[in-house]
Amino acid sequence: MKTQHKHFLLILAIIASVSLPPVICYQRYVKSLGTHSSSTSVKNGSTPTGKGNKTSESHGNEADKTHISEGDTSQTDKQDNCNDFLILIDPGHGGFDPGKVSPDGIEEKKINLEISLKLQDALATKGFSVSLTRDSDRSLNSLDAGSKKSSDLHYRTNRAAELNADLYISIHQNSYSAEYVHGAQVFYYSTSSAGKCLAETIQQYLISDVDPGNTRMPKGNSEYMVLVESPCTAVIVECGFLSNSQECLKLCDPEYQTRLASAIAKAVKAWYDSQT
Ligand SMILES: [Zn+2]
Repeated sequence: MKTQHKHFLLILAIIASVSLPPVICYQRYVKSLGTHSSSTSVKNGSTPTGKGNKTSESHGNEADKTHISEGDTSQTDKQDNCNDFLILIDPGHGGFDPGKVSPDGIEEKKINLEISLKLQDALATKGFSVSLTRDSDRSLNSLDAGSKKSSDLHYRTNRAAELNADLYISIHQNSYSAEYVHGAQVFYYSTSSAGKCLAETIQQYLISDVDPGNTRMPKGNSEYMVLVESPCTAVIVECGFLSNSQECLKLCDPEYQTRLASAIAKAVKAWYDSQT
């Protein structure tokens, strides 16, 4: 019996000495277990094949609470670690397509571009490689396209594939018939655990750093074409409602735009750090 007892204690000691990986995000969990294919290496939290972001693994609530604190403790910014992580920023609409238009005639496409350019700077400052689908007021459809809108949307996600981007961030503004509706909201592909994790982190930072009164929650979606077709982890950030006069004024303000961009960039870095 004594020998058996010793064995039992020894087994307990071995179990206690093995540190299990924290359940932060599914991809980090997978990486720590080393289960991804070595022939299709995971690029800093992106998915090996790009389509892997549409897996259906669950994502625990405990993990959500860790994101901001993790980001805050990594403010030393491991810049040299993320310069091979390519983020494609997609300012929604452009050219013939104004997107949503406020009652005063403010066009979404213009604000999308202004915020995207600021986000480009903020992410580059954190050490990421960044590219834009457009950096001027133009549409992205092919000239001979039957449907300009469809061609325009296809170009955006095709660009992510061409560049072998690790992350796709689409910037938009919202609108609604009821004027009082307001607040930024982040969308992700419904079954993407990495997308959900990132969307939750961005939503948290948009609330804490920009608009503490915003009660919106990130939302899964399986119909938005850019989320469906993105070859890598993707989110759509709706920065606010042009139909709300107060929020529309803020969205046009360069200083407010910088705060939005900074919050998104901080969230991306916190999410990135949680993945690597
Ligand atoms: Zn839009």
